[in-house]
Amino acid sequence: MLSYEKSNKNRSKIDRCNICGSISELSWDHVPPKSCYNSTNTKYNDFFNGLPSLDKYSGQYQNGIRFRSICKNCNNNLLGSMYDIELGKFVQKIKTIITSGTVLPQEVIIKNINMNKISRSVCGHLLAAKNYYDESCVVDKALRDFFLNMNALPPIGHHLLCWIYLYSTMVMMRDVVVKSYSANIKFPEGLLSIISAFPVSYILTNESEKCSLTDIFTYCSNNIDDTVDFPLDLYSCKYPGSPDFRHFIWPCNISDDADGAAFMLGNDINHNIIATRNIEI
Ligand SMILES: [Zn+2]
Repeated sequence: MLSYEKSNKNRSKIDRCNICGSISELSWDHVPPKSCYNSTNTKYNDFFNGLPSLDKYSGQYQNGIRFRSICKNCNNNLLGSMYDIELGKFVQKIKTIITSGTVLPQEVIIKNINMNKISRSVCGHLLAAKNYYDESCVVDKALRDFFLNMNALPPIGHHLLCWIYLYSTMVMMRDVVVKSYSANIKFPEGLLSIISAFPVSYILTNESEKCSLTDIFTYCSNNIDDTVDFPLDLYSCKYPGSPDFRHFIWPCNISDDADGAAFMLGNDINHNIIATRNIEI
């Protein structure tokens, strides 16, 4: 079952910044950031049109998927200069571990990583992944308050789950709800927003079900410069206790398969993208 209200808005070059809300000349933001290998030729479809094929795709970006949605200050001075750098380090460390060619344990500790900045990087790009300033979305308000206050803890009741994503596809979803009746596999509940791109999929949810995944928000503090030793669950690319890999669009894989969701609800097709690209890891 699908429920959609399509919204097509041609956005003015001067508009309200999705993050800070100031009326400003908008700049292009890579979602996910370039450090997640989002800077190559990329074909994309609206999520429900499925994977782009050679002759069937909605659009194409020469240099990665981008949204013109945030002001230059938020883009360059906050995301670019402060937060994306830390996310890039995280990505590189995970890539080094995954491609090491050795037999790996389930858990690897990534030392001295700044989850306060990585969380703000992910939240900032989730905010940027809309084609308008969403005044009514309570999730966006919570993300803005967190992003713009360096001393703030993550929004109460929200979780930022992560799992190892080994696919060359990219998936971006904002504000969807999925429901599964699977007895074997837990699905995140509540309002979900997702960025999936090698090597990590991030799922923001405002409900308590964590599906045995690590919640990055629990590693945050109110000192922006704090670092932590982060336990990376390398087996999170598979369903818990199973040899099967998570579906590349999990938890949005609607199907009758054992790992499929029964239905998904969303309100704007323009924010929900599935993309393919050529990347060399
Ligand atoms: Zn701004």
